[in-house]
Amino acid sequence: MPYRSPVSEFRFLLDKVVGFPAVQETDRYAEATDEIVSAVLSEASRMCDEKLSPLQREGDLHPAVLENGRMRTSPGFAEGYRAVAEGGWVAIAADPEQGGMGLPMAVTTAVNEMMAGACLSLQLNPLMTQGQIDALENHASEELRALYLPKLISGEWSGTMNLTEPQAGSDVGALTTKAEPNGDGSYAITGQKIYISWGDNDFTENVCHLVLARLPDAVPGTKGISLFIVPKLIPDENGTPGVANSLKVVGVEHKMGLHGSPTCVMSYEGATGWLVGEPNDGMRAMFTMMNNARLGVGGQGIGAAEGAYQHALAYAMERKQGKSPEGTIVGHADVRRMLATMKAEILAARSIALSCGVAIDMGRATGEAEWTARAAFLTPIAKAFGTDTGCAVSDLGVQVHGGMGYIEETGAAQFFRDVRVTAIYEGTNGIQAMDMVGRKLADGGEAACRLLDEIEASAEAARGALPDLASAVWEAAESLRETTEWLAEQPAPARFGGAVAYLRAFARVLGGHFHLRAALAEPEGAHARLGRFYIESLLPEHSGLLAQVRAGSDPLMAISPDDLAA
Ligand SMILES: Cc1cc2nc3c(=O)[nH]c(=O)nc-3n(C[C@H](O)[C@H](O)[C@H](O)COP(=O)(O)OP(=O)(O)OC[C@H]3O[C@@H](n4cnc5c(N)ncnc54)[C@H](O)[C@@H]3O)c2cc1C
Repeated sequence: MPYRSPVSEFRFLLDKVVGFPAVQETDRYAEATDEIVSAVLSEASRMCDEKLSPLQREGDLHPAVLENGRMRTSPGFAEGYRAVAEGGWVAIAADPEQGGMGLPMAVTTAVNEMMAGACLSLQLNPLMTQGQIDALENHASEELRALYLPKLISGEWSGTMNLTEPQAGSDVGALTTKAEPNGDGSYAITGQKIYISWGDNDFTENVCHLVLARLPDAVPGTKGISLFIVPKLIPDENGTPGVANSLKVVGVEHKMGLHGSPTCVMSYEGATGWLVGEPNDGMRAMFTMMNNARLGVGGQGIGAAEGAYQHALAYAMERKQGKSPEGTIVGHADVRRMLATMKAEILAARSIALSCGVAIDMGRATGEAEWTARAAFLTPIAKAFGTDTGCAVSDLGVQVHGGMGYIEETGAAQFFRDVRVTAIYEGTNGIQAMDMVGRKLADGGEAACRLLDEIEASAEAARGALPDLASAVWEAAESLRETTEWLAEQPAPARFGGAVAYLRAFARVLGGHFHLRAALAEPEGAHARLGRFYIESLLPEHSGLLAQVRAGSDPLMAISPDDLAA
């Protein structure tokens, strides 16, 4: 079943559900008119459906391999990447002065999701480059920007992100890679990085690594980390790649899925790098890249969910088993439940991701701190709920197929295997939840409650048209507010036991809010029926989740390691 980009759904959500018209009204994004956005989405969808989607299976069956120190990527990936680069899709949101399209993040989020739905393993490559562009635009010197940005934006060069080391995973502060000044403004980088996505390829002229390392006088922990750009081939002053740098890929991991994306062990042996941002302030620059990538990875989860859903729906419409009015398994209540759940969860997760994009755009266009705080608050939710949805929906996709879901030829299992890592990389979903109840509630819950005010006001306005649904969303938002206020008063360790439950409860309520808006926009249509299903059947999960939040950490931590081993 070939993937079909859901363009009309994106248009509907942008126009009617997530508040994108406010972005179009700003001076900064005034050129993102309805016509332009429609043209961008349909052009991107053509590329995804025709060029990228056929590569999804190729990447799975023929993984990238390292041969005599050279990376050989999956068949067709070079052509697929060229289609992405030549279409300008690497740099959708990048600065137009450097050759980017300067489009809003909400539109970028939609395009990235479509690329991920079509071929997740290849899409990870431009996603990493986009994050690198963002980090360089915001933190690099003018000289580095002039040298690197045009090539990254055009897609001639690609970018990677090097944080992880064997002893430094979630705890990035434990990294030991060294950076020593060469005396000419450059640094010698030495150390090993693991799990580096797209650490090399055979289709871009150069590969630029953003590497976290420590200067000789650095203090321990995250405060002593600096960021460097370390190219595979060192460019001359005109940007022509020249001498090979002292770095190499020493191995490619064998993975559960995402086979088309080479996950590399990298060795830096006095490689020449240049500082990005201030010394010892690398995490700030890296966070720019990571925040961008977190939203992008959330979109990867949703894209995979969309692919899995389309696959499962097509199968259910054809498979005959038992008696049903439709003659196929789609007529059975339990199969209908699975498909409705998949579709409803996708709408919820997609709307959260798009609204995070809208908040980023509004923050950039208006400079208002409230929008920036909104974007920061929504980012961990977009990442964790988007990728949890990818895992849950692709799992349901296997189930809809019955035994055929477990047989590789149908392709249903690949979505599940591929997407599983999205809940792990870019900060595990547990770490996202800790960020949410820690840093994102450090304002005493102000950003959270402002969002809940809007959800309640929107539900109030819907009471006339859809009284029962509006009241369910209002009440869910109100109980979430009470728990938010309670949680914000707890000391940090007490918050962590319920962090994942809190993030999911927030996503549930946001999902109810967006489904209600979709139902209002189409009261007699499919969105209204789906919205009713979500609000009546899926939203109630929030109250069980809030009970988990209120239980705090003590009962959990009372179960000792010995108890676990008993
Ligand atoms: C396919 C793939 C691609 C990747 N791509 C890249 C890349 O391009 N660049 C890069 O730098 N890295 C990359 N990574 C690394 C990835 O970001 C890490 O695997 C991830 O951050 C988790 O680190 P870890 O594997 O060391 O797990 P650990 O940190 O050991 O975590 C193990 C478990 O403990 C939990 N945990 C850890 N610390 C805490 C805590 N303080 N509180 C609560 N729970 C905690 C985690 O949530 C997790 O469940 C990739 C990984 C994979 C598998």
